[in-house]
Amino acid sequence: TKLRVGLLFGGRSGEHEVSISSARAIAKALSAEENASKYEILPFYIQKNGCWLAGEIPQQVLETGTPHLEDKNLNRWKLPEQVTQVDIWFPILHGPNGEDGTIQGLLTLMQVPFVGSGVLGSALGMDKIAMKMAFEQAGLPQVKYKALTRAEVWSNPCVFPKLCDEIEAALDYPFFVKPANLGSSVGIAKVRSRQELEAALDNAATYDRRIIVEAGVVAREVECAVLGNDQTKASIVGEITFNSDFYDYETKYTVGQADLLIPAPIPDAVSRQIQDMALQAFAAVDAAGLARVDFFFVEATGEILINEINTFPGFTATSMYPQLWAESGIPFPELVDRLIQLGLERNSSHE
Ligand code: ATP
Ligand code: MG
Ligand code: MG
Ligand code: MG
Repeated sequence: TKLRVGLLFGGRSGEHEVSISSARAIAKALSAEENASKYEILPFYIQKNGCWLAGEIPQQVLETGTPHLEDKNLNRWKLPEQVTQVDIWFPILHGPNGEDGTIQGLLTLMQVPFVGSGVLGSALGMDKIAMKMAFEQAGLPQVKYKALTRAEVWSNPCVFPKLCDEIEAALDYPFFVKPANLGSSVGIAKVRSRQELEAALDNAATYDRRIIVEAGVVAREVECAVLGNDQTKASIVGEITFNSDFYDYETKYTVGQADLLIPAPIPDAVSRQIQDMALQAFAAVDAAGLARVDFFFVEATGEILINEINTFPGFTATSMYPQLWAESGIPFPELVDRLIQLGLERNSSHE
């Protein structure tokens, strides 16, 4: 009998559309010849309003790639009865309410195995402030930063200027202002002046209670994929090149705006160091199954800084994570199969 894989996609996140694209690619891989005899797909679509749908609509969303919104039961959260048929969950969700430990907590309570990081790994991997603290503790080099809350940003007009003064005293322009819990560069701004800083902080506060301001670096952007649970492997390293000011949402998702170079044209010793750091970062946040670790390589000084970890990175056929593994000898359908096996292994050896 086939293992029933619950594909969980969409989600209450700014990365809803990206999640649908990832889910389509994973569904296709599960239908590939080598997997079709082992797995049966049960699609579950989480609408932008948070409602779960099973059955025909999720199937339709997978086929068309278009988000769907059914307005019934808007404020009534209920799990479809089909959840009881799932043997293993594949949460294909990016960003808050999916990649951050919330869904992982629910699935843990259901006592059904799932692919990827658990509650702690997901939460630490999502929150850029907590993540940076974990990286710091692990001795991983990173940019200087300051952590803020929405309450501070939206505090009375006497406090806010002092806050900006403190940031300007601690870091040199340009800065990157980011909501702490997001992805796909949503809500991120590069700022070069006090005026831009104030506007960016205000904007970031609309996305998240927690905000981070980082010192901007001039560097090449390189990424490494990790696969495994307690025994982990790092992929070959890839580089992203683009012409825009930084790797923003538009650059990420407009065809032809960014190029992925795999392997990255960097010295072998640098690659090896990046792979090492990627494995350390994975362990530092207690990730499991998969993660993509993003780095800055400052060519002028040879410095490698860790930027972030993504516990559920973009997973379309052209995304960096599966491409890094494909070039490292694991084709897409096999990668998906391995992730399911890792999910089963972790969840059965866990308690
Ligand atoms: P992802 O889609 O990878 O999850 P994200 O939304 O978590 O992205 P980051 O990776 O932190 O965001 O930043 C997005 C992009 O912004 C980076 O790829 C880089 O181009 C630029 N960037 C972010 N922080 C810095 C920095 N401190 N210095 C220079 N560039 C930066
Ligand atoms: Mg990220
Ligand atoms: Mg992300
Ligand atoms: Mg990133």
